[in-house]
Amino acid sequence: MTLAETPNHTNSSNPLLTLNYESALESLGSDYYDEVTAAEFPQHILRWRNNALLPSLGLDPQVVKDEDFITAFGKFQERKPLLALRYHGYQFGEYNSRLGDGRGFLYGQVRGTDGELYDFGTKGSGTTPYSRGGDGMLTLKGGVREVLAAEALNRLGVRTSRCLSMIETGLGLWRGDEPSPTRSSVMIRMSKSHIRFGSFERLHYLKRPDLTKKLLDHVIATYYQHLNSEDDKYALFYAELVKRVAELVAQWMAAGFCHAVLNTDNMSITGESFDYGPYAFIPTYDLSFTAAYFDYYKRYCYSQQPGICKLNLELLQEPLKAVIDIGDLQSGLSKFAEYYLAEYRTLMLKKLGFENGQFAEADQLLQLTITFLQDSQIGYHQFFSDMARTFNSKWRDEPAFVMNTAEIVPALGASAIFDNWCVLYHQILNHFDPDEMDIIAQTLAKYNPQTALLRPVIESIWEPIAQEDNWQPFYDLVQQVQ
Ligand code: AMP
Ligand code: MG
Repeated sequence: MTLAETPNHTNSSNPLLTLNYESALESLGSDYYDEVTAAEFPQHILRWRNNALLPSLGLDPQVVKDEDFITAFGKFQERKPLLALRYHGYQFGEYNSRLGDGRGFLYGQVRGTDGELYDFGTKGSGTTPYSRGGDGMLTLKGGVREVLAAEALNRLGVRTSRCLSMIETGLGLWRGDEPSPTRSSVMIRMSKSHIRFGSFERLHYLKRPDLTKKLLDHVIATYYQHLNSEDDKYALFYAELVKRVAELVAQWMAAGFCHAVLNTDNMSITGESFDYGPYAFIPTYDLSFTAAYFDYYKRYCYSQQPGICKLNLELLQEPLKAVIDIGDLQSGLSKFAEYYLAEYRTLMLKKLGFENGQFAEADQLLQLTITFLQDSQIGYHQFFSDMARTFNSKWRDEPAFVMNTAEIVPALGASAIFDNWCVLYHQILNHFDPDEMDIIAQTLAKYNPQTALLRPVIESIWEPIAQEDNWQPFYDLVQQVQ
């Protein structure tokens, strides 16, 4: 046989297979995972490849062929072991000890050009010991929705996982919430880590403080490296996790994002946002807006998100007590509100055009904006994108010029509170020099993209895919949200 005929020849030139894979998690030992095999699919159609991510892996998008994605991330050739991670979690308040990667596995770990270690995790790659009777698959629409969520959140400055690829796999799946049979996909998600709060909860449940400590040491050494040589690294780790999670949820709230399933198995130990199922961006500032139809008691509605994230951090104290002093855990968590409010305030003021909120009326503006958005129930994203699109230096001259265009005014309607808002905004602009108006315009544009990923928008790109296999509107939308 010549070299060209050997089965591995094409693979050895596949840049996705020859990345420098590290076995950080595998080296912890088999207490944390099960080795699994991937499903074999009848079809592999590459529907999405995230070229924007490839340079962060040291790859030139030009040299990675579509076929390379299919071989690596659809056929799962060559890579071993594939690890279904073990975890438990509180789901809608109830402890579930039967969780774990039920439709995915850790495909591999790769160091990015930034020096950080990244996980490639699959979603929809077949059953595992944790599938609990499920089919181990991901619907095509589920894949499309997760790609979009991650790109939109990333654009909005949220620390989030991203999708590296999505491949349609040719199966017909049965789902209660989609017309069935529905199309299938397999996705690769690139994230900081797939270790979850629930990974620690499982070890507590199994009464294995030794394994808790080992995993925690690994987490700190890998994802909190700057703390690793500190004497009180455990206390510092938890304090930083609290800060990261508080900031993350503030980022969601400012972005108008409702994650929908804030179970502890969906909370990353790195404080990164991931796993986008029934999420939604809020249409209006409605505190009780709930994204998941099965969240009957609105447990994870928009306004509950900060409180739930804090509760999840508190639940995590139970397993961490095996290693971290309870006093340190409590004092770490006590800072949650402070971190949350500071980040939320900063981000909202940026959405309002101000990179730094060093003016007397900053909190008044924030309060009035929220009251107005809540009372009027005008579009949350619309309001900010209208501001960004129509802002001009004349707003500094007269309150009557603020947000006053023929297109916007009728939508906003006449209200005393809006008039007050315009007066206040005009007043604040006058703390700045006329030549600073450009900076405000740029800030508004930067923090308020014109395209929001509202549900009707997602449905409008899904229709052409479902009806005529037309993917162009999806690609256009990804580009817009990116
Ligand atoms: P999620 O709500 O997507 O975070 O999933 C919660 C748990 O259910 C995780 O352990 C998943 O792996 C598992 N799971 C979700 N969907 C499926 C499926 N179709 N087949 C097998 N396991 C699943
Ligand atoms: Mg999950």
